[in-house]
Amino acid sequence: MNRTGWVAEEIENLKNQGRYIPIRQIDGPQGSTVTISGRSLLNMCSNNYLGFANNSEIKEAAINAIRTYGVGAGAVRSIAGTIKIHTELEKEVAEFKHMEGSVVYQGGLLANIAAVPVLVGKEDVVFSEELNHASIIDAVRLSSAKRIVFKHMDMSDLERALKENRNAGKKALIITDGVFSMDGDIAPLPEITELGEKYDAMVYVDDAHGEGVLGDHGRGIVDHFHLSQRVDVEMGTFSKAIGSMGGFISGSRDLVDIMKQRSRPFLFSSALNAGDAAAVLKAIQILKKDDTPLKKLWHNADRLKQGLQKAGFDTGRSKTPITPVMVGNEKKTLDLSGLLYEKYSVFASPIVYPTVAQGTARIRLMPSAVHSDDDIDRAVDAFEKAGKELGII
Ligand SMILES: *Cc1c(COP(=O)(O)O)cnc(C)c1O
Repeated sequence: MNRTGWVAEEIENLKNQGRYIPIRQIDGPQGSTVTISGRSLLNMCSNNYLGFANNSEIKEAAINAIRTYGVGAGAVRSIAGTIKIHTELEKEVAEFKHMEGSVVYQGGLLANIAAVPVLVGKEDVVFSEELNHASIIDAVRLSSAKRIVFKHMDMSDLERALKENRNAGKKALIITDGVFSMDGDIAPLPEITELGEKYDAMVYVDDAHGEGVLGDHGRGIVDHFHLSQRVDVEMGTFSKAIGSMGGFISGSRDLVDIMKQRSRPFLFSSALNAGDAAAVLKAIQILKKDDTPLKKLWHNADRLKQGLQKAGFDTGRSKTPITPVMVGNEKKTLDLSGLLYEKYSVFASPIVYPTVAQGTARIRLMPSAVHSDDDIDRAVDAFEKAGKELGII
């Protein structure tokens, strides 16, 4: 008897709808190029914004930490898994973010899952941005708080929602992505913060795509808008611009303290490995000293967007290095990605439903500080040729 026979049918459906994503295996480090099946491809879709994923100084720091501490933390943070490098990292992150304190988790998704259910429960109400990341959506569900979704970037809709529903809960939380990961636009955090103050709602921003990208030396969205004393919770990840693995919550000393007492990934999932923690610590130290990779990233982003627009592509509403090439149709997007991969040796993964809304499929390009001008021009040229072949431009 085959009780999982329905799975084959489900997979067939995904394939027919153009929603079955090929999973490519990379045979070496993340760089301007990657090796896949023995071929070198121009890497245009990893979140390694600053090239830190394969930075030799950072790798050295991780290797040294493994020599000192070993590979595994051995336990959850609250039992026997808190090692010195965690404490050092938490201090560094708080300083970098101009916040009182921070607590480190094993990933960004986990940081959201950790924090939201500590902040709000079933008596409370959450105002959640329409395009928030899946990890926020899951975290809010897990909290059992009443959830009110407000329209993307629409402050009058947020205010209407607050007016109508603020009293639906004891505590209230406004939660938003800082940089929207699929579109690259930036949340109007000053206005959100004002509304939070006006309606007595905590403000929580997920800065996954802002760290190492926005603000002074990549301090992120809160620094970019000079709001460090006014945003209650800044969450972030170490897996994108920071180049390694892990996530964090920063805020007041008390807020960090309660996370260490209550948040479930801190209490019930083993701690971040020393190698990762050391890599992150080194990456932040490098970023504080030297913002040349950051400047190079923005230079490459401008060059890429201008090139694609000149070729006739719609690059959406991005205000950051995230560069969506809007196609719309799911199947056409997979075809474009496939042609770029097979014929032009450009690695650019398709983004389709349910990651983005149906009919808004796209290829999301991520320029990096490790790309040269020639790399960027080659990507544009490949898109222009492939786009013409498929009748997209
Ligand atoms: C990537 C991302 C996360 C998850 O971070 P990981 O460290 O990869 O788990 C959370 N929120 C947003 C907005 C993201 O883009």
